[in-house]
Amino acid sequence: MLAVAVQPAAAQAPAPERSITQVTGDLYRFQNNQHFGLYLLTRAGVIVADPINRDTANWLKGEIAARHNNAKVAAVVYSHHHWDHASGADAFEGARVLGRPEMVSALQGPAATTGLGAQAAADANRDGLLQRTEATGAMAQNFAAFDADGNGGLSAREIFLGQHRDVTAPADIWRNPIREFTLGGKIVELHHVGGTHAADLTYIHFPVERALLVVDVISPGRLPNIAADYNEAHQFELLDKAASFQATHIIGGHGLSGTKADLDAQKAYFTELRAAVQASINAGQTVEQAKASVKMEKYANWIAYRDRIGPNVEGMYAVLKR
Ligand SMILES: [Zn+2]
Repeated sequence: MLAVAVQPAAAQAPAPERSITQVTGDLYRFQNNQHFGLYLLTRAGVIVADPINRDTANWLKGEIAARHNNAKVAAVVYSHHHWDHASGADAFEGARVLGRPEMVSALQGPAATTGLGAQAAADANRDGLLQRTEATGAMAQNFAAFDADGNGGLSAREIFLGQHRDVTAPADIWRNPIREFTLGGKIVELHHVGGTHAADLTYIHFPVERALLVVDVISPGRLPNIAADYNEAHQFELLDKAASFQATHIIGGHGLSGTKADLDAQKAYFTELRAAVQASINAGQTVEQAKASVKMEKYANWIAYRDRIGPNVEGMYAVLKR
């Protein structure tokens, strides 16, 4: 008798969607699925804005060498410290890494006593830790690596440090509100924005290319998130600040590479969503009724519309009821 054990092929994650697009001149936008960064060619090497993650950075290093006469990455700048944009700079050996002092402190991670916060919903047994059965995504895949103290549960601190393990802390720390960085005859301006999304949030301006990279707080052509801390005055300040640059390209870390018209469109979306949800509140609707009635169909062609319109109505409803 011949017994043949057939192993089912391990479930493979789909290959990431990656691309490189010229924005203008020596400025290029690169993609890893829903995340985007930029790179600028200079005579003294390449400047990368947001390496995204280790795999993307390794891929990008190869693409840059292949496309641009064996060019190497000489510098990395960050929009902010969050792991899903800032990981992977180590792939670029010898590159100078610039960042805010707030980034250095944020990367220390929350105190060991910090509660799970947004992750608490997954804490089914309410012990303040996420066990293997409660963890999802990267936390579940890298559970043992995240669980630094090996007690079988992830604290907020362990989750943060695990998620940010591939983020290279900056060695070149800029403290003034604006840092002008020049390399190989090219200029990048870093403008500290700060605020609620991340204390180190930075707009990255390429004055010669007339391009501005805005990450997370503005995503051209994509429905925003209305988080619990949403504040319209603050959001409009961020949009006005972006509009104040001499930039013809307004480029998102998510969404599109757009123009200033996309900033106006974002403002209109927030204004119209607020008015529509307020009208439904005034009509005595529950949040479920508001979600059923407020569809913002004018924006149905925006990225993430289907996933976000419901949560956006719910978020705005909570903000207006507050
Ligand atoms: Zn972020």
